[in-house]
Amino acid sequence: MPSDLRKIAVVGAGSVGTSIAYALLMSGLVSEIVLVDIDKNRAEGEAMDLAHGAAFVKPIKIFVGEYKDCRDADIIVFTAGAGQKPGETRLELVHKNTAVLRSVLPQVIDRAGDSILLMVSNPVDVLTYAALRLTGLPPNRVIGSGTVLDSSRFRHLISENCLVEPRNIHAYVIGEHGDSEILLWSTANIAGLSLEEFCNWRNTPCPNRQTITQSVRNAAYEIIARKGATYYAIGLAVRRICECILRDENSILTVSGLIEGVHGINDVCLSMPCLVNRQGLVRVLPVPLEDAEKEALLKSAAILHSIQEEQKLGNMGDTKSVVPKMRAFKQQPGFNESPYLH
Ligand code: NAD
Repeated sequence: MPSDLRKIAVVGAGSVGTSIAYALLMSGLVSEIVLVDIDKNRAEGEAMDLAHGAAFVKPIKIFVGEYKDCRDADIIVFTAGAGQKPGETRLELVHKNTAVLRSVLPQVIDRAGDSILLMVSNPVDVLTYAALRLTGLPPNRVIGSGTVLDSSRFRHLISENCLVEPRNIHAYVIGEHGDSEILLWSTANIAGLSLEEFCNWRNTPCPNRQTITQSVRNAAYEIIARKGATYYAIGLAVRRICECILRDENSILTVSGLIEGVHGINDVCLSMPCLVNRQGLVRVLPVPLEDAEKEALLKSAAILHSIQEEQKLGNMGDTKSVVPKMRAFKQQPGFNESPYLH
């Protein structure tokens, strides 16, 4: 495929997969989207509906394919599997969705290719780790959407409180995309001012940390209780991740990926602010943490690690090669080590 033509494969044409396809269609970033779903009828209906907007967007081909049609995609977005039922945690989906991953992934990945695999199905951190082990791909090419959505929720709530638009807010959610996630209040800032300094200047009350933390952590539960699923905002979050990759942006996003040696955490996938470009997740920023934030991050990592162990994910596929591959990647010419980065 010529380099100006970009193809994204979306595996799972349910609410999330089709919202991602719709956001990508509107973005003008890609020239081909292939939808793949075990329910081919549904996927065909979705592809037809999306394709009929052709006259209003940049030229794009949207079609339903087989698993093998994913292999030459620039990015394979994985959304297949079950979603949370009301009251169900993301971690409770692990058995069902690991089984889906095991059956589908070997069919969609070309190990010799250079596709980036972007996991979205939940529990996204555990499935990202499972995907890494199953495929044996280098860790820069296996990413989870992680807490990109949660960080947007955090910025949205600060924005409403501080009366400033979200794009001017630097604030990250790290750790598990789920109940143990951590909102980094200590480093949240607006134009270099702490939230307290900004609110004093703006003459508005400071955000209530506890209320916002609970709202971000419980956002999916609240939406699922009202409308059964969440999909529009994750559609936009995934579009943004794809944009950073396809445009080789070197942007910072809280995607999920393999953590090795950051804040003493090893062999687990979770979200930290990461540098993302055409090669995928190339660096993890070991951002400074207050003691309580670090303690919460270690706890979140321990929860995810115990699920990985329970599911025996460390014994899947290409177990030994992941960390050496990351090290080899770091040793490439031009991989510029900085004293601030591990
Ligand atoms: P959905 O039920 O609407 O769609 C899931 C789709 O997967 C269905 O169309 C189903 O036919 C398909 N599928 C199941 N098994 C398959 C297989 N073997 N091969 C191909 N397709 C298969 O669910 P949804 O609301 O679209 O959610 C999808 C996933 O995304 C869930 O796990 C949900 O928890 C997750 N999610 C993640 C985030 C995030 O921030 N990471 C946000 C929202 C939802």
